[in-house]
Amino acid sequence: METMRLDKYLCQCLGISRKEAKEKIKSGQAAVNGETVKRPEYKVCPGQDQTICQGEELSYEPFHYLMLYKPQGVVSATKDPAEKTVIDLIEEPYRKKLFPVGRLDKDTEGLILLTDDGELAHNLMSPRKHVAKTYYAEVSGNMGEAEIAAFAGNLDIGGGETARPAILEVLDASEEVSRVRITITEGKFHQIKRMVKAVGSEVLFLKRLTIGPLTLPEDLSAGSYRKLTKEEIQQLK
Ligand code: URA
Repeated sequence: METMRLDKYLCQCLGISRKEAKEKIKSGQAAVNGETVKRPEYKVCPGQDQTICQGEELSYEPFHYLMLYKPQGVVSATKDPAEKTVIDLIEEPYRKKLFPVGRLDKDTEGLILLTDDGELAHNLMSPRKHVAKTYYAEVSGNMGEAEIAAFAGNLDIGGGETARPAILEVLDASEEVSRVRITITEGKFHQIKRMVKAVGSEVLFLKRLTIGPLTLPEDLSAGSYRKLTKEEIQQLK
């Protein structure tokens, strides 16, 4: 049976730092199976022992899932010597463990998922799973029927690669700029930019709106994040 130090367990359940967890334990605010425990190193069995902190029963979450609205100018990496990363936008105690699922370009904004659940991340990114991702884009030129048909086929996106059929929805179009929604089911490097280039246009603005069942909430501002709900986690699995 897996055991875990009580202070670590509190950190994971409550999203607090190790220092805060130790303080709570030492001041008698934590109880395991009905007994107050004042030793941070006390071993608990996650998911089995009943653990209470400040009168509230704790529920154990082995993994963590955050949705972040990545702003432009931030890179989708855990570390970078020169650039601000998505992890720099996250507060303790999540920072150490989480990594972004997939990548958005530095100049792309929108929905990105951060987790420490390697299996879920692997499944979401697997080229065999064809998870749908929808983007809002502003592109140069007049998008119409010809481009919709080209996106629905197998566009040659250069470098010896073709794209899987995608959905191009034109929200409005003029000779200079078109506002579109694009849904793809793969994640090749610079995929949207390359698809748009393949029909003779250029991406001027790009924002990811959805990943599979997850939608960027309208009330989440650029640079902010929230935990996924239990239902959202279930839907992703
Ligand atoms: N396609 C791109 O070209 N860039 C992104 O950031 C995401 C998809």
